[in-house]
Amino acid sequence: MKFPDSYSGLVSLLYLFIGGNVPAQTPTVHQTENVILITLDGVRWQEVFTGADSTLLFDRTYSPDTAGAKKLYWAATADERRKRLMPFCWNTIATQGQLYGNRLNGNKMNVSNPYWFSYPGYNEILSGYADERINSNDKKNNPNTTVLEFLNNKPAFAGKVAVFSSWDVIEAAVNEERSKVYANSALEPVSPARTATDSLLNEMMIAAPSEFAGVRSDVLTYYTDKNYLREHQPRVLFVSFDETDDLAHAGRYADHLRILQTLDRLIGDLWATLQQMPRYKGKTSLLITTDHGRGHTPKARWKDHGTKTPDS
Ligand SMILES: [Zn+2]
Repeated sequence: MKFPDSYSGLVSLLYLFIGGNVPAQTPTVHQTENVILITLDGVRWQEVFTGADSTLLFDRTYSPDTAGAKKLYWAATADERRKRLMPFCWNTIATQGQLYGNRLNGNKMNVSNPYWFSYPGYNEILSGYADERINSNDKKNNPNTTVLEFLNNKPAFAGKVAVFSSWDVIEAAVNEERSKVYANSALEPVSPARTATDSLLNEMMIAAPSEFAGVRSDVLTYYTDKNYLREHQPRVLFVSFDETDDLAHAGRYADHLRILQTLDRLIGDLWATLQQMPRYKGKTSLLITTDHGRGHTPKARWKDHGTKTPDS
């Protein structure tokens, strides 16, 4: 697929990778035996690489408690700000792994689909190709075979692939029906609830207010997935978070930073958990990316994305 040159100036994907280094002397042996894919919906490269954006953080429209937000997220340099916002990313991934997508250094990660919103992005991440038929966020089963389905059909991975998502459309993006990949989405309970923790998670899902329609809180998605990881030890896990995008659309910049900081901490917790489990320690790669960026228009500022919003 060909795109005009102007598309190449757009940031849409950033890509983080830690672990899985293959020793040079053993080129045929892969250290990675398990892969965990994490997506942070609609997170911009700007926040990841330069931390809080002063034009939004100090604007009461987007950050009503400006003084409070300044205390939490502001620092004089981009290096300090990004460490403050995403300490796991900058203290661990940046030193032990790889980061891509810092456009200030001319390093560009772009989506190749022509739409610049979620489902086309998730299809592209999961199937490896942009597909112009995936042109809405409607919850329709993905006609494409995802890498998750491909692996789940291999004897070595059968039943060892799982998906946890805050957004319900993700279970259609992985075509749970056809692929038979276990996908737990939005407010779907843990089933069967076999342990006290399973039951507690289900109670919390009913009790916790859902701020956005069809979306489970990312914190609950995380703990549901962590519980599954401990109980079932999948070889391939896809965890799809969502609230960063909803909060950005709502124009709540300080809240958007808060959930991004929380997710950074939870990813750090996941990494620490993996290093305590023999099944995962030293042989698990963590891949973190996003489905699209966010653009800029004078009216919507950073809130929107899509083809009508340049730079998304
Ligand atoms: Zn969005």
